[in-house]
Amino acid sequence: MKVFVIIPAAGLGTRMGGLTAGAKPARVTAASKQFAEIGGAPILIHTLRKFEAVPQVSEIVLALRPEDGAAFQLRLQREGLRNRIMVVEGGENRQQSVANGLSKIDAAPDDLVLVHDAVRPFVDAEIISSVIQGAVRYGAAIAGLPAVDTVKQVDRTADGAIVVSTVPRARVVLAQTPQGFRYDVLKKAFDEAQADGFQGTDEASLVERTGHEVAVVMGSPQNIKITTPADMELAEFFLSRERRRRVSVTG
Ligand code: C5P
Repeated sequence: MKVFVIIPAAGLGTRMGGLTAGAKPARVTAASKQFAEIGGAPILIHTLRKFEAVPQVSEIVLALRPEDGAAFQLRLQREGLRNRIMVVEGGENRQQSVANGLSKIDAAPDDLVLVHDAVRPFVDAEIISSVIQGAVRYGAAIAGLPAVDTVKQVDRTADGAIVVSTVPRARVVLAQTPQGFRYDVLKKAFDEAQADGFQGTDEASLVERTGHEVAVVMGSPQNIKITTPADMELAEFFLSRERRRRVSVTG
């Protein structure tokens, strides 16, 4: 059984105000957040290193915007990350970028495909391994976190949000990535979504609508999706803690 990883990284970070930690959130630019640097390297490089370090991963498929492709390929080479990484062109939206990646892999029905957000560099080996095990067992498994806040369903109005109801917290999980699937399960879900014109915000939502069950394995509060400039400060903190731990283990 092979394990493929698709990383959609062809988006424009429209919620990011700047490219470095400490940048003010006041101005929202179209800078791509996956290329923002933490600890001297783009977020995407940190993310790729996490999957490169997993022996079970056979190939990483990276979806990039064509204008980012050439420069980033050079960066991959410099980082010694070229071997198991195939770069494909991203699409108009996340789903299309993943679909492009899916169309380029040579997978058997029971091989696995993991999809991971480019901007979640603090995923760890334990989460990746749990998702792989879950996907083998159930055909589809995602990393998720139990909700600690009470969750409200709201109506959006011109003046703000009005609470409609309270969702029982025990029934809520916050979905993270990686999300892992047997290739045949994911391919069917993408084919059906395309035929129906369905757009999801994650891959699991496509699989759910085919009727296939999706298991949840434990994610981590550290596995954040770097979205706003404030997240960059947290990311610098997590990274320095990771590095300190590495030094204390190896030294
Ligand atoms: O929009 P969202 O934050 O969910 O995007 C998640 C991921 O999808 C990001 O890593 C982004 O780079 C990627 N993406 C993409 N192609 C697009 C739009 C987003 O690969 N056209």
